[in-house]
Amino acid sequence: MDALKAVIAARELLAQVTPLKQDCGRYCGGACCQSDEDGQGGMLLFPGEETLYRDLPEGFSLMRDDAVLKNAWLLQCEGFCNREDRPLSCRLFPLLPTRTGCKMDWRGWAVCPLMAHGKTGLNPAFTAAVKEAGKILYSCEEHAALLDAIHQYNEQLKQF
Ligand code: SF4
Ligand code: SF4
Repeated sequence: MDALKAVIAARELLAQVTPLKQDCGRYCGGACCQSDEDGQGGMLLFPGEETLYRDLPEGFSLMRDDAVLKNAWLLQCEGFCNREDRPLSCRLFPLLPTRTGCKMDWRGWAVCPLMAHGKTGLNPAFTAAVKEAGKILYSCEEHAALLDAIHQYNEQLKQF
């Protein structure tokens, strides 16, 4: 599948379903939407997704970033957005698709209180949607490359 079509389909699967049946942001003050202490941060966009932000909603900006994958796009925000503007990275968090299902995203340990409960603490409908999104994403070489790179990055994080 074409990268843009795949990311749109994955976003759609995660348009309504959330990590908990209630708004999990109420428990942590929306920790994953806050920037780092140095004001840095941003959400890694999936290949093709940057085209959905050509007409950037107010408060968003785009920049290139090589931290996980060379020449990837980061979307920066001001800590608030409309649900329909959320990039796929935010819709998947704190899960990450794998080639066979999904796992907790190690990057979540820095911010997300749901990490301690693991997958069993999450809304089953959310987990199922992430797995479905993963099937779509892994059917596209570009998305598979990004996901593999994020998993490699997470393996490095585990060393610290
Ligand atoms: S940090 Fe975790 S619990 Fe808090 S809003 Fe984000 S996903 Fe939900
Ligand atoms: S894009 Fe939206 S959901 Fe994602 S971190 Fe920014 S405010 Fe939060």
